[in-house]
Amino acid sequence: MAPVVSSVRSVPLSTSLSMKAALHPQFHTDATVTCVCGNTFLTGSTLPELKTEVCSLCHPFFTGTQRIVDTGGQVERFRRRAAARTAAR
Ligand SMILES: [Zn+2]
Repeated sequence: MAPVVSSVRSVPLSTSLSMKAALHPQFHTDATVTCVCGNTFLTGSTLPELKTEVCSLCHPFFTGTQRIVDTGGQVERFRRRAAARTAAR
């Protein structure tokens, strides 16, 4: 005799898996992503158009070149201070 599983209820697939109407936003399968470096590519999004500041073509992790954002020449000031200290020794 087969075991009886009492916790499984028989629910019709059409009612249990159907999405609610007018609840989900429109999904664009060909949304255009535009990067400030000029690169564009397609993705899926609820927005038809996206803008980004960094992408896989211009991010330092992928380009291999290091870039630092120097505000107010602080790096240059540090280098001058460090050079003055080593010269004093
Ligand atoms: Zn980019």
